[in-house]
Amino acid sequence: MHEEDAGDERERTGALLDQCAVCGICGQPCRHEDATPDEPASYRCPSDCQPAITAADLEKRVGQAVIGRLYTPAGLARMAAAEQLLHQLGYELPQPVALSLPHAVRQWTRDFDQDTRKAVVRDWLLAVVLNPPRSRHEDAELFFAWRRPRDGI
Ligand SMILES: [Zn+2]
Repeated sequence: MHEEDAGDERERTGALLDQCAVCGICGQPCRHEDATPDEPASYRCPSDCQPAITAADLEKRVGQAVIGRLYTPAGLARMAAAEQLLHQLGYELPQPVALSLPHAVRQWTRDFDQDTRKAVVRDWLLAVVLNPPRSRHEDAELFFAWRRPRDGI
């Protein structure tokens, strides 16, 4: 999104949503902050327009949204066909293609490493805009700007 930040050292951290999470109030990219003894890792607007969002919660919600977008019935069928073709050609994928949406969620949560997750997120998601929760009992509101239209279902 911001080419001038390509060499930034944050780029090399494990943050899933660097340069992708945007503050819905001021429009600036939110920064990933590593965990401290008192606080979990989080994403924070550099102008502090809204409370920081716990990184684990935000990354989980974004992961679920990306997976729901990618693993549609049509997407699953196409990936299974591609896997079968590759198998016939003698190629084995590092991870088997998910058989269902719940299987995809398990792969995302347990099997994919952070680089794989980042690649999938960057491939599909232009930005996730964070807006503060409407009440203390709600989560932050997320607006997703996708790179591609939704797959045919
Ligand atoms: Zn802001």
